[in-house]
Amino acid sequence: MSRTRVLFLSSEMAPFAKVGGLADVIGTLPGALRGIGIDARVILPLYAPIKRRFIDRMTLLDERTVRLGWRSQYSGLYVMNHDGVPIYFVDNEYYFGHDRVYVEYGFDIERYAFYQRAVLDALGDPMNFLPDVLHCNDWQAAMVPFLLESQFRPKGYHLDLRTVFTIHNLMYQGLHAKDLGTDLFDIPARYLTDEGVLSGPATNPLKAAVRYSDAITTVSPSYAAEIMTPEFGEGMDDLLRSRASVVSGVLNGIDTVSYDPSTDPYLAVKYGVSDVLPGKTANRKALRKEMGLKEDASTVAGMVTRLYSQKGVDLVLEVLDLLVAEGVQLAVLGSGDPGYEAALRQAVERHPGRVAFVNAFDEGLAHRIYAGADLFLMPSRFEPCGLSQMISMRYGTLPVVRETGGLRDTVTSYNEFTGEGTGFYFRNPFACELLDVVHLAVQLRKKNPEAFSRLVLQAMSQDFSFRRSAERYAELYETLLGPRRTPKRPDR
Ligand code: ADP
Repeated sequence: MSRTRVLFLSSEMAPFAKVGGLADVIGTLPGALRGIGIDARVILPLYAPIKRRFIDRMTLLDERTVRLGWRSQYSGLYVMNHDGVPIYFVDNEYYFGHDRVYVEYGFDIERYAFYQRAVLDALGDPMNFLPDVLHCNDWQAAMVPFLLESQFRPKGYHLDLRTVFTIHNLMYQGLHAKDLGTDLFDIPARYLTDEGVLSGPATNPLKAAVRYSDAITTVSPSYAAEIMTPEFGEGMDDLLRSRASVVSGVLNGIDTVSYDPSTDPYLAVKYGVSDVLPGKTANRKALRKEMGLKEDASTVAGMVTRLYSQKGVDLVLEVLDLLVAEGVQLAVLGSGDPGYEAALRQAVERHPGRVAFVNAFDEGLAHRIYAGADLFLMPSRFEPCGLSQMISMRYGTLPVVRETGGLRDTVTSYNEFTGEGTGFYFRNPFACELLDVVHLAVQLRKKNPEAFSRLVLQAMSQDFSFRRSAERYAELYETLLGPRRTPKRPDR
């Protein structure tokens, strides 16, 4: 029996291109799948920073012209090996010659339409690899199942190829004007209805993926259930319910090698379970110095996040002065909504030495906040899975989370009677509930440090490795492929 071949399509992958959690997942899952016998590979756009840094390690496999609506565009195909995983790159300077992953929404639509076309043209001979499964992620790769269904299969191509679509965040659907979508994807007229790929006047890639993929996954079981309700369904809950038999939730893991406080090169002092108390004390002190917070006995609450309403930033802002009055210090790293950025800058001015805000994307500082904080605030309105809470637990920093989605599936709330728990929950997206639970955590740390330390140890000893997720995906691929067909010619 030949090995199952899976090609991941994604706009992000750590360490090549990272904006959020998607990059972490694609940076780790394919390697974990290879570890259990799946031939997993990845294909990415060749963004300018990747080209500058890695082109010397890449091999050019193919150059061709790809048709995109009325356009004909150059498409180069490179490959390199990264930690044992073959990574392919689609090259086109016009589309990907920028320093940023995402450039501008109106243009991004065309950039990722090109990417998806180029990937489909590269399968087989150009790549020397014909996958059994295309594992597409988020709206940037969401039209592939539809293109197969509407344009390839009717002509007899790729009949054996199966598609898995993973929703990392249902809020981002890639909507764009019908005329543009129709042009970029050559959408036949019969699909231009709400029962096809339209949402009102717009083409909706996410909808196309939910309708035409062989299997749909999302990144936690709780979020899989939530997105089938009107509250979390982003207008897609009806359709998702109609496809419930192929929808499942597979919890993400984290990269336990990069996120390991006992080997992390970004930290002032490395530590593990056996020396967590002195380790955290030293890292807290270093973090305060780095971010300009006063050295005293107060609790440091960290946040490393995109600053958007999804993440409940407004809830923190609403009670920020009260948190400070309670003696909490806040260390925030993030960027996003200019309104939240400005409000955080004002908070720093109001509370010098007690609130710190770095308005950037900074991998090193992110690690130092995970290590140096006592609590990690993640009051998300919704959370498909969330990685930050898992990373913070691994660093012995107790997450304070809203009980939703992947937060519910990964954090166990403190139980004062049994002493169980790896963090703290609040139920509803109200600032006063957040305030109450932070108060509970701060008081526990102050008045019952032994109980608090036990929670820290419990949090640190959770297993967040990707192996379990990889096994679930492997099962899903096998179910989709059924009894294996005739062996194909070997790939190079
Ligand atoms: P999302 O994908 O919704 O942004 P996740 O919790 O799933 O949220 O993943 C966020 C990832 O991005 C984590 O690895 C987190 O540490 C990282 N991250 C978010 N903001 C920043 C930032 N400003 N600087 C460095 N890393 C960040």
